[in-house]
Amino acid sequence: MNNKLLIYNTLSRKKEVFIPINPPNVGLYVCGPTVYGDAHLGHARPAICFDLLFRYLKHLGYKVRYVRNITDVGHLENDTDTGEDKIAKKAKLEQLEPMEIAQFYTESYHENMNRLNVQIPSIEPRASGHIMEQLDMIDRINKNGFAYEIDGSVYFDVEKYNAKHNYGKLSGRVLDDLKSNTRELEGQDEKRNSFDFALWKKAAPEHIMQWKSKWSDGFPGWHLECSAMGEKYLGETFDIHGGGMDLLFPHHECEIAQSIAANGKEAVKIWMHNNMITIDGKKMGKSLGNFITLNEFFEGKHKTLDRAYSPMTIRFFILQAHYRSTVDFSNEALQSAEKGFKRLMTGIKTLGKITASDKSTIDITDFESKCYKAINDDLNSPILISYLFDNVKLINSIAAGKDKISAKDLENLRKTYNTFVFDILGLVDENDDTSNDILDKVVDLLLNIRLDAKANKDFSTSDKIRDELSAMGVIVSDKKDGFEWKIE
Ligand code: ZN
Repeated sequence: MNNKLLIYNTLSRKKEVFIPINPPNVGLYVCGPTVYGDAHLGHARPAICFDLLFRYLKHLGYKVRYVRNITDVGHLENDTDTGEDKIAKKAKLEQLEPMEIAQFYTESYHENMNRLNVQIPSIEPRASGHIMEQLDMIDRINKNGFAYEIDGSVYFDVEKYNAKHNYGKLSGRVLDDLKSNTRELEGQDEKRNSFDFALWKKAAPEHIMQWKSKWSDGFPGWHLECSAMGEKYLGETFDIHGGGMDLLFPHHECEIAQSIAANGKEAVKIWMHNNMITIDGKKMGKSLGNFITLNEFFEGKHKTLDRAYSPMTIRFFILQAHYRSTVDFSNEALQSAEKGFKRLMTGIKTLGKITASDKSTIDITDFESKCYKAINDDLNSPILISYLFDNVKLINSIAAGKDKISAKDLENLRKTYNTFVFDILGLVDENDDTSNDILDKVVDLLLNIRLDAKANKDFSTSDKIRDELSAMGVIVSDKKDGFEWKIE
């Protein structure tokens, strides 16, 4: 088994062999949701991609501390330094406490993730619960000379930082270009340069979420929480930081700058970014009307949707693409994912029923190693899934009696499917109808007893069975050659 896991590092722009800083421990940080609305398809992708990584690292025997934050402060409306906090805005609109909004949508996010079979991270810290840590980090950045204060707000001095370090190394942006492109944006006059970003913002009196600091009553800038909480729970240097590509700039670029400015060293060894989901070729967005929440997918309640799609269809659909490729949503694409997923689940069910022969007429010796090779190559789930499909054909051929499988091969095949499909890809058979099968048989049995009773003119027994079943919602109709039944 080849267990050299290669991961594409956005920072070095190449695939690197994954070697943990402090094995068997692995520190993994992923930017989590801002909790002010229902989770949508765009939330499902990073959650599922990094769930795959989390599961696989654990499968390899690593002890993973997975930190995924909950952003409940600091995400401003236009994602820069001005505008209103999204949660505070929603709270005002609905006349609720901001924390009621955050609590409600955190629960809703968890429920969605649970249905997608996304495992719970080790720690889910909230930005609002880590104001002290963020203030402490601003202090260090300030002491090292990379920040300046203006009227109660503290800004990161990008130009000064760039003179010593390289601002833009993650995104490939060059400060000179940023300078010429971002002149004099309105409302940002107090900053020395428009590309400087807020570490601390003095709050206007009407701003609901604000905390005391030596600079002003205010709130932290939105890039700061991840740097501060990553450091708190994973240390000054940790293994992997993940998130969507949309966070690469400015969010992750600023995170790198903050950590280096505070601690004099790089915090993250490997940066991983999942690509975006488009809908019929277009970017998702509330204003475009193609912003579909996960609940709308599960219930089929959105004008774009032909019908409902189950959580596992969504999960399988996302895993069918490599995390660094874009995924385009369409009803056709989801329906084909649904078909594929069902075929895989039926194949695995058939595999469970196959009996062994004394010899195999098929060759599955390299199946397991091919699966590992795929997943080790920067989590190539589409290739892995294609191997899983290839062997469904073999399974069907064995079930049809065209091929034979030895007991040892059968055991290997079952083990490999279980490991990759359920443990690593995290799929679940939603139509596990074992209990339904049994129920069907029990109703048939009762109705056959009733037929016997009728034949013996024991009408009180036959009526009793019919009436009691009817009370449970089982409608029985007598036919010439027996009976039919259905559930009301
Ligand atoms: Zn973040």
